[in-house]
Amino acid sequence: MSDIFRSSAHIHTSFCDGKNTPEEMVLRAIELGFVSLGFSGHGNSVYDPVCMSKENELLYRQEVLRLQDVYADRLEIILGIEHEAIAPYPDFPYAFMIESVHSILKDGKQYYIDYDFDHMVEAAEGCGDVYKYCEKYFQTCEKAYRDTPAQIAGHFDLVTKFNERHPVIDETDPRYLEPAMAALEAGVKKGLVFEINTGAIARGYRTTPYPAPVFLKRLKELGARVMVNSDCHDAAYLACSYEEARQYLLACGFDSVVRLRRHGLEEIQL
Ligand SMILES: [Zn+2]
Ligand SMILES: [Zn+2]
Repeated sequence: MSDIFRSSAHIHTSFCDGKNTPEEMVLRAIELGFVSLGFSGHGNSVYDPVCMSKENELLYRQEVLRLQDVYADRLEIILGIEHEAIAPYPDFPYAFMIESVHSILKDGKQYYIDYDFDHMVEAAEGCGDVYKYCEKYFQTCEKAYRDTPAQIAGHFDLVTKFNERHPVIDETDPRYLEPAMAALEAGVKKGLVFEINTGAIARGYRTTPYPAPVFLKRLKELGARVMVNSDCHDAAYLACSYEEARQYLLACGFDSVVRLRRHGLEEIQL
């Protein structure tokens, strides 16, 4: 791993769809020499069974805050949440929030974005075609970014999760790029930090992080801030592909990123 990031602000645990307990994640982070770790359990949502129930969310909060105290001298532990764009905002205060779209609503029907390729085909049919599906996804992002109190935009082009193995979206097509750029610009205008998300590499869906270079280059042009996150569901992949992410950022013109610390965002040079 590249030892310059030594942080991830996108961590899932056994309180939602992660494999490990929060404490196992903390111990792995300490082993890797991390300076900070931001937990971002899937927030309460009726739209997705992997999300935490209200009761579970309370237990999650309690446990992360306990660990924050226990490991205070070894790791900065930060309590956050990943908000599902189409669900209500959390009822409890969080030190940070990631705004993500994992589902869209079309004609009263809910479609998952990142479940599997068959779901994607069904969603594209429900929306009319694959480009209308992408447009609906990015319109949902755009609205979410405008309204959100979050600080971070999660896995911006998640809609391409299956596109390496099943290339059905031409990512240079204006029908894809135009709604995507509109969403991206809304997020930048809001001041959101865009994450370079290596989670789909860890899970074997992709060989490159989100977002694609075309978006990273636009983010650079617009002066947006970016951060590297592992969207970790398994402690073995806590710093997955961080060195590749660094190279990727350099190739897209970035010379610095931010990382989440307890006092806020810290800029680090690449
Ligand atoms: Zn997510
Ligand atoms: Zn996540």
